Amino acid sequence: MDPMASDHPPAARERRVRCPACGGDSLYAPANPHRPFCSERCQQIDFGAWASERFALPGSGEADGPDGPASRGD
Ligand SMILES: [Zn+2]
Repeated sequence: MDPMASDHPPAARERRVRCPACGGDSLYAPANPHRPFCSERCQQIDFGAWASERFALPGSGEADGPDGPASRGD
């Protein structure tokens, strides 16, 4: 037996992870440019959610703008 002969399967360099967007199987390998997502679609979905969350700052209501409460009938 040759100790140099590896028994590792060729798929050892490829990993299967769970897609953060859809929870499906995702190929975590250079062959998948959208990793850890399973597809470009899922990547876009996640990025969109992340972007909207980032821009949705807490306390920034659209009613109270920097102009102040101009129409405040008190
Ligand atoms: Zn997915």
